[in-house]
Amino acid sequence: MEIIKNILDLNKAVNGINNLGFVPTMGGLHDGHISLIKNSQKKCKKTIVSIFVNPTQFNNKDDFKKYPRNLNRDINILKKLEVNFLFLPKFDEIYKKKRNKKIKLNKNDNILCAFYRKGHFEGVLDIMDRLLNIIKAKYVFMGEKDYQQLFLIKKKFKNKYNSKIIGCPTIRERNKLALSSRNFLLSKKNYFKAGLIAKYLLKFKYLYKRKYKRNHIILNKTIKELENKYKIKIEYLEFRNLKDLKLADFKKKFRLFLAYYINNVRLIDNF
Ligand code: AMP
Repeated sequence: MEIIKNILDLNKAVNGINNLGFVPTMGGLHDGHISLIKNSQKKCKKTIVSIFVNPTQFNNKDDFKKYPRNLNRDINILKKLEVNFLFLPKFDEIYKKKRNKKIKLNKNDNILCAFYRKGHFEGVLDIMDRLLNIIKAKYVFMGEKDYQQLFLIKKKFKNKYNSKIIGCPTIRERNKLALSSRNFLLSKKNYFKAGLIAKYLLKFKYLYKRKYKRNHIILNKTIKELENKYKIKIEYLEFRNLKDLKLADFKKKFRLFLAYYINNVRLIDNF
């Protein structure tokens, strides 16, 4: 595996590869990332993974500081998977070019995580714009675990770059908790609790439509019950259409979107 730290070397190494797959990550690799890499390796001749903990997408300095980092472990995982290239840029390499126009979200997009993490997606869109500009991949593989991120990136860049963004399914632990680098921050007890919450909501999604007849009062009651039972703080638990992320009308495909804090660790999921 070739480890590349600057854009000049990157251009030399990957320019001219016409079937390149790209998996952007912030490290702290787990089976969710690995499934994206395997999807890329199946579809593409060569695969490049990036690891960059992007400070501009953290709306909270402390969160950035305590974000799990384990580069040696990550490099070993990538080598074992026979990934061709790892792009490992420093902050200045990425941000040396100033942006002419600030990235802004549409008003309609100010929902779910965009509402609760001010500036987060502006940071995400900025870094993805820069990465897609440097890495001219045919396909980019991203997880549905971060569905709103996938939705916004697809919308923003589908006409700007030739790279096709491919959404890949959420990989879960055996206890149904979605894999996330932030799970490294959970105590054993909270890891167990988070699994119970995921299991409960997977079932609740089904019951809400069939048995509870989409009764909003039951949704609100469920939020309170989960908060009390598991000592968590739920930011949102909302049914939304998959296609446009508007509040679900239940005629089209929909999912149940969740964000909550468990002992200061923020977890998101969709079911
Ligand atoms: P991150 O390192 O958290 O920025 O994630 C990098 C990529 O991995 C993003 O496209 C995520 O959506 C994806 N990802 C994270 N967790 C999972 C998971 N459990 N299943 C599938 N993809 C995931």
